[in-house]
Amino acid sequence: MGRPCFETSRTRRNSAENKDDAMLTIHNPATGEVLSQVETDDTNSITEKIALARAAQRAWARTSFEERHRAVTAWKGIIQAERDRLAAITTSETGKPITQAKNELNALVQRIDFFLENAEVASKPEEVFTEGNLTERITREPLGLVTNISAWNYPYFVGANVFVPALLTGNAVLYKPSEYATLTGLAITETLHRAGIPSAVFTAIIGDGSVGALLLTHPTEGVFFTGSYPTGVKVAAGAARSLAHLQLELGGKDPVYVTDDVDVVAAAAATADGAFYNNGQSCCAVERIYVHASIYDAFIEAFVKEVKGFVIGDPTETSTYIGPLTRGAQVGVLETQIANAISLGARVAIGGTKLARPGNYFAPTVLLDVDHRMDLMREESFGPIIGIQKVEDDNAARALMADTTYGLTAGVYCRNVDRARSVLEDVPSGSAYINCCDRVSPRLPWSGRGHSGLGVTLSTYGIRSFTQTKAWHIRS
Ligand code: NDP
Repeated sequence: MGRPCFETSRTRRNSAENKDDAMLTIHNPATGEVLSQVETDDTNSITEKIALARAAQRAWARTSFEERHRAVTAWKGIIQAERDRLAAITTSETGKPITQAKNELNALVQRIDFFLENAEVASKPEEVFTEGNLTERITREPLGLVTNISAWNYPYFVGANVFVPALLTGNAVLYKPSEYATLTGLAITETLHRAGIPSAVFTAIIGDGSVGALLLTHPTEGVFFTGSYPTGVKVAAGAARSLAHLQLELGGKDPVYVTDDVDVVAAAAATADGAFYNNGQSCCAVERIYVHASIYDAFIEAFVKEVKGFVIGDPTETSTYIGPLTRGAQVGVLETQIANAISLGARVAIGGTKLARPGNYFAPTVLLDVDHRMDLMREESFGPIIGIQKVEDDNAARALMADTTYGLTAGVYCRNVDRARSVLEDVPSGSAYINCCDRVSPRLPWSGRGHSGLGVTLSTYGIRSFTQTKAWHIRS
C-alpha cells in the first residue's frame, strides 16, 4: 500500500501552445528511475512531417518491389545482429523480462520473412475475365500515407504487423509508438532508416495519447491502430472525419475451456503460461478459464503449483518470468477487479496484492468461486490475474465463453479435436485454439470480433489491407 507507481509524464518547459518544447519523461517501471527525456511532436512538427511523407510516398511507390524488399531484408539483418541491444531497450522502459523481449525479436524475424515471401504475391494483379477484345483486370495500389498508432506490450510485433507490409506495398507510414515504448519506437525508426527506408517514408511521431489524438486530426488514407477498446472508439471517430481505411486491433477477454479428458498437469501448465506470460499484458492472454467439474480440484492444485513456481524479479535477469507491470495505473485496475470479485464471493487462491518492493510489481493472482457478475470475468484485466470457474458440461462452457462483448481468441483443451471444434464454432472470436493458447502465426489472419476490433493483419489477407483495388475495363 502506498508504494509509488511509475508512469511516463509529459511536461512543457514553456507554456506557449504548439511550440516544440514539450518533453516526455521515460521511467524504468522496475525501479522508477528516469531513463530519458524525449522531445514530443506538436501540430507544427506533424504538419511538416506529413508534407515530407506525402512527397516521399509517391517516390517510394514508384520504386521496384525488389528495392523495397532489399531495405526490409536489411532491417531484418539489423534486428538479428543487434537483438540483445534492442531487447535491453524494451526491457528498460516496459519491464518486459529480457528473455521474453528476446523471444519477441526472434519471432519478429519469422514475421518479416513471411511478409518478404508473400507481399508481392498478395498484391499481384489478377486478370478476371477476357472475351473478344474485352479484358477485365484488378490491380492493387498502395493506400498512400498511413497512420500507425501502436501499443507498448509487444512493440515490435504490433508495429511490424502494420509497417512492414505497408512499406513493402509502397505506402509511407506515420508511426506513433506508445509513450511507454518510446525508446523502442525510436530504435525501430533509426534501424529502419539505417536499413535503407527513406526517412520521410517512415516517420516517428513522438508523444502521449494527446499527440495520438492530434495526429488523427491530420487526414491520411489509412489508420491502423493497436490498443484498448475505449481508445479504439475514439480513434474510429477521428478516422471517420477523413473516411480513412480503418483497422483496429483491440483488447480481449479471451476464454479457455479445459474438458474432462485432458492431461491435467500439462493443461494447467500451458494455460498458466497463457495467462501470465508477459505479465498477462498480451492482447491474446488467457483472461478467464472454465474447467470441467470432474477435474476441477486436480486442475486448481496443478495450476496454483505452477504459479507458485514463477520467478518474479528484476526483468534484466534471464531467469525472471514475471517483471513489473509496464503501466503503474494498471495496479489500480487489478486491485479494483479483485475487490469487486471478493465482494461478490470470490476467493483468492494465491496472490491478490501489489508486491512490497519498488516498481510496479503485482503478485500473480488466481481467483476461485468466480462468476459472470464479476468485472474480473467480463472486463479485460491486462495483468497477472486470472479467474477460474467450474462448469458442469460443454454446453455450460460454450454459453459462458460466448458471454462477452469481446471476440479476439478462444481455446479448448481436449483430446477429442472434434469435440473442441464443436464448442469453438459457437464462440465469437477471430482465432480459435485447440490444445494451445496465446499464439499468433504470421500465416493466419489476425482479427477480432465485437469490441476486439475491425479488419485483419497478418496472412496474405493482412498484406492486402495496405492496398486498394483498381478495376480495369480494357477494350483493345
Ligand atoms: P491504449 O488504448 O491506451 O493506447 C494505444 C495507443 O493509442 C498508444 O499509442 C496511445 O498513446 C494512443 N492513444 C491514447 N489515447 C489516444 C487518443 N485519444 N487518440 C489517439 N491515440 C491515442 O492501449 P495500450 O497501449 O495500453 O495497449 C493495451 C491494449 O492494447 C490492450 O487492450 C490490449 O489488449 C490491446 N492490444 C491489442 C492487440 C491486438 O492485436 N488485438 C495487440 C496488442 C495490444 P500512449 O500510450 O502514448 O498514451
